[in-house]
Amino acid sequence: MFARVLAGRVDVTVIDSDRVPTIGVGEGSTPKLRAFFAAMGISDEEWMPACEASYKVGVEFAGWSDYPGHKSYFHPFFAHFDRDHVKGLAFNAALRRQGIDLPAHPDLFCYNRFVAQKRLSPLVPDRFPFDIQYAYHFDAALLGNFLRRKAMDAGVQHRERHVEAVAQGADGAISGLHLDGGEIFTADLYFDCTGFRALLSEEALHTPYVSFAAALPNDRAIAIATAADADLPPQTTATALEAGWAWSIPLRSRTGHGYVYSSQFLSDDAAERELRRRIAIDGGDARLVRMRVGRLERSWTKNCVAIGLAQGFIEPLEATGLALTQFTATRFAWHFLTKGTDPQVADAFNREVADAFDSVRDFIAAHYLTSSGHQTEYWDHCRANSAALSDNIKAVFESWFRGEAIEPVLTSRRMTQYFSANSWTYMLCGKGVFPRVTQLSPPDPSVAEKVPVASIGRFIERCLLNHEGHAATLEAQRGASGGAACPQPAEALRILCANGLSLEPLQ
Ligand SMILES: Cc1cc2nc3c(=O)[nH]c(=O)nc-3n(C[C@H](O)[C@H](O)[C@H](O)COP(=O)(O)OP(=O)(O)OC[C@H]3O[C@@H](n4cnc5c(N)ncnc54)[C@H](O)[C@@H]3O)c2cc1C
Repeated sequence: MFARVLAGRVDVTVIDSDRVPTIGVGEGSTPKLRAFFAAMGISDEEWMPACEASYKVGVEFAGWSDYPGHKSYFHPFFAHFDRDHVKGLAFNAALRRQGIDLPAHPDLFCYNRFVAQKRLSPLVPDRFPFDIQYAYHFDAALLGNFLRRKAMDAGVQHRERHVEAVAQGADGAISGLHLDGGEIFTADLYFDCTGFRALLSEEALHTPYVSFAAALPNDRAIAIATAADADLPPQTTATALEAGWAWSIPLRSRTGHGYVYSSQFLSDDAAERELRRRIAIDGGDARLVRMRVGRLERSWTKNCVAIGLAQGFIEPLEATGLALTQFTATRFAWHFLTKGTDPQVADAFNREVADAFDSVRDFIAAHYLTSSGHQTEYWDHCRANSAALSDNIKAVFESWFRGEAIEPVLTSRRMTQYFSANSWTYMLCGKGVFPRVTQLSPPDPSVAEKVPVASIGRFIERCLLNHEGHAATLEAQRGASGGAACPQPAEALRILCANGLSLEPLQ
């Protein structure tokens, strides 16, 4: 991205050690990634077959609630007309919080849930002029290799060397990197992409780390792959288990499964057994991944900017890792082009990055606080976890239970930098976070007719006639020619900003 967006202004060198493997997980994404590929001039036809990628239109949450009728729900990437439909959901849900019997399950209102259920592709022909948001699932290792080649085509130098030590000047800034073989590599600015170890930012510069472990206790994941699902559902499934949750991610070549759990409540062996039981598989390698959940106090310190796992990580319940990485890189490029690299720029950048991480943390924590699907020690802890209940979440819950609109609270507290009020509404309605009254009251007939749920369903069904099957669409990509025009640098940054996290475009 830097080589394209800052073309002519910077030279980029990547130093990458063959002695330290990449984390090797991370197969799901959010619609932000579409903007990345568009800005880089890479078409779906070009990269998706090469990376065994499939489309993703949202996440199905299963087993997170015991509220009748709400055992599962879909958190979609939004379609154009969901903006209207979600108003109907919010209207019904406000009355539902007063004990009135109105349909308030988000699946009834949500376009992409239907797309996923019917195993359709999110792509639509030009004659259907409504945007359907989507993202991707992919093989992370293949995508890394693909992007390495692309970066080198764009002029990035790639050097397979190990960083042995970080040299610092009298002012504490990085003055060079000692590489294996004795060479000292120097640059104007260093990006720390060394993963959880944060070799430059934390080990060398001692940037403080803000742990989210108390709020989000999951610190492990076990990953296992099974054969590909011929049905290719265009969705991730996140199923609540005894001491965490399991992902299921359908790629063309395999289905990835993983159990995200807390080592305080479950041993690694027990987690592997539970995951294997769930997916009914004895053989095959299981990979254990240790996760560190939190963020650096400052992503940018002196002449070093941490990006990726080095800057922080929030457990992958909503697959936000790459989106936060993309946000950080986009925001850096924007500041660099408009204001350079003076310390005040770094302060503004650091606040934005911290806000983005913290707002994602709150949204993920709210999933656990509102869960009711399992009665185990782990889930009892999550529901009663006062460390997760930030003042921001408390304010949203108070407003929700007063029956008010939550959007003003979310906006005034800068909580919509990543997840919109619609996402919060879907999550709370999806789990059935309503008062548990023994008997709901029937609605007044005039109120019952206000939101025509059946006609929303019929409307969506007719719109779906414009979609092809998901598997067939992916198959057709294989032989298709894949070129896309590469936008000029300013245009590439505009695309990234327009689709980023509340970013204003470059003037
Ligand atoms: C369990 C789990 C699930 C995830 N799921 C998702 C998901 O669904 N969606 C999503 O968007 N994200 C997800 N993520 C996050 C995602 O995997 C990462 O953001 C992504 O892989 C990028 O990682 P990284 O490059 O920052 O770190 P790494 O993959 O750890 O790479 C670190 C790099 O630094 C190099 N390095 C380290 N030390 C040295 C050294 N001394 N000298 C030279 N080079 C060095 C290594 O060689 C390596 O190339 C998940 C993460 C975890 C842990």
